[in-house]
Amino acid sequence: MAAETIFSKIIRKEIPAEILYQDELVTAFRDIHPKAPTHVLIVPNVLIPTTNEVEAEHELALGRLFTVARKLAAEAGIAEDGYRLIVNCNSHGGQEVYHIHMHLLGGRPLGPMLAR
Ligand code: AMP
Repeated sequence: MAAETIFSKIIRKEIPAEILYQDELVTAFRDIHPKAPTHVLIVPNVLIPTTNEVEAEHELALGRLFTVARKLAAEAGIAEDGYRLIVNCNSHGGQEVYHIHMHLLGGRPLGPMLAR
């Protein structure tokens, strides 16, 4: 079994976070070190460490990440100008927390996708 991260504690509300949305499949909360005016993390409630562990049974929860991203982007007023959704995997991807999460970033021009 994969080791729990701080995100499991946030999902269970055992530690504080600014939760913007929660349902039976996913939880969305503000990133503690925002990289843009809007920086929200959307995570499945079930622990999936990385995209390498994604299975067909996760499709409903992982699809929900997108519908919640759409809703939160609209609520933040960034849908029209646009935003970026990012999922990092393992060390080369820059993943720090081993509980799959989608970053929703926006509120300013975000520049090129990758720094060189
Ligand atoms: P990643 O590099 O894709 O694994 O992103 C992990 C993100 O989690 C980083 O942007 C961190 O700032 C964020 N983060 C870590 N701990 C917390 C926390 N307790 N509450 C909110 N965001 C967090």
